[in-house]
Amino acid sequence: MDLVVIGAGIVGLAHALAAARAGLAVTVIDREARANGASTRNFGFVTVTGQQAGDTWRRALRSCAIWAEVCPAAGIPILHRGLLMAARRTEALAAIEAFARGPMGEGCRVLAPRALPHPLRQELAGALLSPHELRVEPREALPRLASWLETQHRVRFRWRTHVRGVERGRVDTTRGPIAADRVVVCPGNDFLSLFPDAIAAYAPVRCKLSMLRLADPGWRLPAAVMSDLGVVRYLGYGDAPSLPTLRARLQAEQPAHLAQGIHLIVVQSADGSLVIGDSHLYGDTPDPFLSGETEALILEEARAVLHLPTPRVIERWVGEYPSAAAPAFISAPSQETRVVMVTSGTGMSTAFALAEETLASFGLAPAVPA
Ligand SMILES: Cc1cc2nc3c(=O)[nH]c(=O)nc-3n(C[C@H](O)[C@H](O)[C@H](O)COP(=O)(O)OP(=O)(O)OC[C@H]3O[C@@H](n4cnc5c(N)ncnc54)[C@H](O)[C@@H]3O)c2cc1C
Repeated sequence: MDLVVIGAGIVGLAHALAAARAGLAVTVIDREARANGASTRNFGFVTVTGQQAGDTWRRALRSCAIWAEVCPAAGIPILHRGLLMAARRTEALAAIEAFARGPMGEGCRVLAPRALPHPLRQELAGALLSPHELRVEPREALPRLASWLETQHRVRFRWRTHVRGVERGRVDTTRGPIAADRVVVCPGNDFLSLFPDAIAAYAPVRCKLSMLRLADPGWRLPAAVMSDLGVVRYLGYGDAPSLPTLRARLQAEQPAHLAQGIHLIVVQSADGSLVIGDSHLYGDTPDPFLSGETEALILEEARAVLHLPTPRVIERWVGEYPSAAAPAFISAPSQETRVVMVTSGTGMSTAFALAEETLASFGLAPAVPA
């Protein structure tokens, strides 16, 4: 085998695509029967605007373009496009106005309250409308992407197979060894099974998020929706002069939201249901419990921004992703091995571009499709 990818989350599948496009014979191995980690539990929100300036923003732009090309080919519906960053406070409005004027604001515009589309509330101070984003349903998108890689790119999948070790030219699995010229390890939040020292060098911890699905509210979202809590959390709005005042106001007015790392993302599914979140709790072993208080705080923020009838929760789940000071890393424990981890909760938005960088680190380049 030319290249073995360990992990069939979005980071692993992105590497399988890049390697197949570089003409390599690829096998993907995962210990689960199907992707079930962060890549299945997220919003499916491929976000550009608000990503940290530099590598993360550049990777997000590139990855979003790859999603836009892969989705129709793989039969993955794009459920909506764009982002409405709703400003509840004048300081948030000043921050999005500053963003729109800056280099990452190209294509974005600020809407006045009277121009806000339903279901956004008219009491808002305004909203930034970004055209760059797209949204897929992760629980459908991941299996379709894997199946398309299998049928159209001849990628082989070995599910229910744990990888115990990687040595020069050989991957040791619970179903026997596999010979491999190159290996890319994409283990998500497993920091210990493979190359623990290479991973420990980046000091990742786990971040737990709480997520909800609400029954169809009877309207359709024109785009994904976020709010002031996201303006202070997303590093791309980082140097707006009004941000310190906005942070101070949020600390005074929504301290419980800040303490639980809550910020609002609302996206919609094909059946009209809404996926809403989320909170952020960090640690080596975050507890698995969903807090009623956290849920109430998330819904309170959603109702401050949207005309949301009494919400009916139809699903709840937790997700976990690795978090570290660097937004992502590609580590090279040996000449033929790479360990790749997204450590900023942005894997759906950045994995395709990161995979191209990994291939380049082997001296390979994916062919651009005609
Ligand atoms: C609730 C939530 C919401 C999020 N929302 C967004 C969003 O909207 N947009 C965005 O860009 N990002 C979002 N993220 C972040 C994003 O989901 C992650 O960055 C991304 O999914 C990480 O992908 P991954 O492939 O590294 O990990 P995973 O999806 O966790 O996959 C890792 C895989 O590796 C396998 N594995 C590990 N070790 C072994 C081994 N030794 N042998 C065999 N298999 C192994 C595991 O079984 C697993 O399937 C969110 C994350 C969460 C949790």
